[in-house]
Amino acid sequence: MAHCIIPEAEKILDKKFKVLDKGFVRLVDYLGSDARIVEAARVSYGKGTKTVSDDARLINRLMRDDHTSPFEQVIFTFHVKLPIFVARQWIRHRTAHVNEISGRYSVMGSEFYVPRKSDIAFQNPDNKQGRSKESVEPWLQNDVQESLRTGQEESYKRYEGLLDRNIARELSRIALPLSLYTEWYWQIDLHNLFRFLRLRLDPHAQLEIRAYAKVMMDLCKKVCPIAFAAFEEHVLYAQRFSKSELATLKNLLNGKTAGLEGKALDRFEAKLGIAGEKTGRKELRKKLAAESLLLRKEN
Ligand SMILES: Cc1cc2nc3c(=O)[nH]c(=O)nc-3n(C[C@H](O)[C@H](O)[C@H](O)COP(=O)(O)OP(=O)(O)OC[C@H]3O[C@@H](n4cnc5c(N)ncnc54)[C@H](O)[C@@H]3O)c2cc1C
Repeated sequence: MAHCIIPEAEKILDKKFKVLDKGFVRLVDYLGSDARIVEAARVSYGKGTKTVSDDARLINRLMRDDHTSPFEQVIFTFHVKLPIFVARQWIRHRTAHVNEISGRYSVMGSEFYVPRKSDIAFQNPDNKQGRSKESVEPWLQNDVQESLRTGQEESYKRYEGLLDRNIARELSRIALPLSLYTEWYWQIDLHNLFRFLRLRLDPHAQLEIRAYAKVMMDLCKKVCPIAFAAFEEHVLYAQRFSKSELATLKNLLNGKTAGLEGKALDRFEAKLGIAGEKTGRKELRKKLAAESLLLRKEN
């Protein structure tokens, strides 16, 4: 099979897609597509029919059954401009190949991330790693932005002052804050990109890295639309239930009380997408009980 050239992907190749206030994602290159996944999988399954719907069925089955290695045959290279604190989270995904701008070699630019007013939030009282939904008064939003900008300008001046005195770049840069923008080339295969996206599109991930994940997902969908549909079906919008949660689901289907309580029940309801709905539990129980009765009658 020749190189996979996907017309929809060619249109977005090499273009910068803006993320946050000064960042971007650019898809530098791709290797493979849905067709490559199918081709690789057929090595293990033997030759089969090759209609589009058969290919989609095969990719769907691979995703459903965790037959992941054919997805590793598709590779993406991105050029990303991102704040250092986002890069700190991102770099934890160890299966990528990375090449980053060197603050030892180059003089760093004076570009810093300042969150939008609407993204400025209080500490979440329940989730230590999250933001509260409580709104922040406009005067405080302005104050936060102003305070960040002043600190960033002061840090950059200090950095320049050190460089002016011929202090080594590798030392001078330590005056710079985490909001400074950096750039890297980031290469990853589709299987591991899916892992990255599952974790970083999740509402529990930090808003700023989620913004990058969302753009990357939209770009890569152009290259492998069928694989992404399978990812959405079996991973991204699917749920993993614990043993106790499954028991609760069975209880509810049989019209019994849930079994789980407190935060465990809250988490279970969040997975079902009914968290925070006061009538959710009762309604769900009724609905599930009615459905299971109907099923029993039909059988
Ligand atoms: C919401 C959220 C909060 C987080 N909070 C924190 C935090 O507070 N502190 C913190 O330190 N981290 C934190 N992390 C980072 C997290 O613990 C993971 O390191 C990160 O998400 C990368 O996941 P990964 O290991 O699956 O990815 P990758 O490194 O891309 O690895 C993918 C998979 O490859 C395999 N693999 C990779 N390398 C190895 C290896 N050397 N040996 C064996 N198998 C390997 C594993 O199966 C792994 O799951 C957080 C992540 C998220 C999403």
